[in-house]
Amino acid sequence: MNDTTVQALTELARARQAELDERIAAWRTAAGIRLWCGPGCGNCCTLTVNATLPEALAIAAAGLDDDLCRRLDATVAALLGHARQCGDARAFLAGYRQAVGPCPFLDGTGNCRIYPRRPLACRALLATRPPDWCGVNLAELPAFERDAFLAGLDRTAVAFPTHYAAAPQSMAGDFERGLVLAMIRHLGFGVTGSLPLLAWLAGRREELSAALAAGPEACSAFLAAHGAHSPFLVQLHIP
Ligand code: SF4
Repeated sequence: MNDTTVQALTELARARQAELDERIAAWRTAAGIRLWCGPGCGNCCTLTVNATLPEALAIAAAGLDDDLCRRLDATVAALLGHARQCGDARAFLAGYRQAVGPCPFLDGTGNCRIYPRRPLACRALLATRPPDWCGVNLAELPAFERDAFLAGLDRTAVAFPTHYAAAPQSMAGDFERGLVLAMIRHLGFGVTGSLPLLAWLAGRREELSAALAAGPEACSAFLAAHGAHSPFLVQLHIP
């Protein structure tokens, strides 16, 4: 992958993120749903976050300071360690919060340190319940409390069984698929996966570019060399 391709994918990711923001703003005005997201409520930033490779390239292109690089290193080490312990995606997701911790880009006040560059998935995760609910693991709630929570959700508005609005996630999904198609046009295949891991790999620009240019098999070998060859860490989209 040459510099021109990196730049084209990076610019496309930024354009799609700006477009999603506009579409979500228009939807918010029209839908009239109360949303609780705001500065300092970073509870959803303790969930797994996925992104497309162009979005990770955009994060790396803007540069990360030494502190963020250290945090990213630590998160990726925990992430890979957790993935090695898990036999399937279900176990990986269930133990993620405890084993990996919050997103490395979350600061100590609950705010995102890369807010203008955050991926589509983060932009689209909008809570229809107070932020405390974003930190709750439903599986750990007593049954009566979980049932009351689920019964109180508006199934026409949320991505059930979560309390996150469905429409923005659907919009983001369309844009993510568009970015995958753009990767396929440029590289012959697409890459999506864990945000911290992709951002970390994007920081190894030369190594990553060589693997991407050599095709999916070389990319798989590159991921394996970093202990990241797992379908619940990175997905290769081969047409
Ligand atoms: S990138 Fe920012 S908004 Fe997204 S999970 Fe990380 S801290 Fe939260």
